[in-house]
Amino acid sequence: MLNIAVDGVSSSGKGSVCSKLAKKLGIIHFDTGAIYRVIGLFVYENKVDPSDEKSVVALLDKLQVDVRHGDDGQITYMNGRDVSKDIRQNIISDICSITSPYPDCRKFVLNIQRQIANCHDLVMEGRDITSHVLPNADYKFYLDADVNVRAERRYKELLEKGQCVTLEEVKTDLIERDRRDMTRDLSPLILTEGTIHIDNTNMTIDEEVDLMYNIIKGN
Ligand code: C5P
Repeated sequence: MLNIAVDGVSSSGKGSVCSKLAKKLGIIHFDTGAIYRVIGLFVYENKVDPSDEKSVVALLDKLQVDVRHGDDGQITYMNGRDVSKDIRQNIISDICSITSPYPDCRKFVLNIQRQIANCHDLVMEGRDITSHVLPNADYKFYLDADVNVRAERRYKELLEKGQCVTLEEVKTDLIERDRRDMTRDLSPLILTEGTIHIDNTNMTIDEEVDLMYNIIKGN
C-alpha cells in the first residue's frame, strides 16, 4: 500500500493540492476533515449545542458516515444523504472545530480512516495524519502559508459560494480554528520529525503538486 499523509493549517490549500496530487499518482484522495464536518453538520441539524460534549457524543450512535471515491473525487454521505456541499458552510467549519477535539469524535473518525487506509493506496489529508493516524506513511507533508494569504483564499472561496462574510471575519476565524487544532490535548496539529514542511505562500497549486510528486517519485 502507498500511503501519503498530509497535514496542514486551515485553508492551506490541502484539499486542492491533495486532490491533484492523488490524480497524478493515480490513487485516491481521502479528505478526513469531511468526516469531522459531517459530525458538525449532524450536530447543527439536530440543534445540539456543540460545546455540550455529552450530547454531541450521544448523537454519534445515530450517525453513519460513508465516503465514496470516484473520478470526481470524494462524495461524503451522512446517513445515506450526499452532504458533500452542505458540510462546506462556514457555520459548519466553526462547529466542527469545537467538536473535533472530543475523544469520542476522534475515535469515531479514526475507525473510518484506518479502514480505508488498510485497503487503498491513498493521499490522506487532515490535521493528525502525519502524527497520529498514519505515522508510518511512506511520505509525510505539512502544508502552511501566511495567514493573510490563507484568509484571502478562503474569503474568495466563500464569496464564490454566495456566503456573506468580511475578510476580517474570515481571518479571525482562521486564527481561532488553527489555535483550537494546535492546542487541543488529543492529537493536535503538529509538525513531526520526518515530515516535509512546505510553505506555499508564494507557490501555485501546480508548483506545489509538482514539488510533492517529484519528492515521491525521487526525481
Ligand atoms: O480540513 P477541514 O478544514 O475540512 O477540517 C475541518 C475541521 O476538522 C478542522 O478544523 C479540524 O478541527 C478537524 N480535523 C481534525 N483532524 C483531521 C481533520 C480535520 O481535527 N484529521
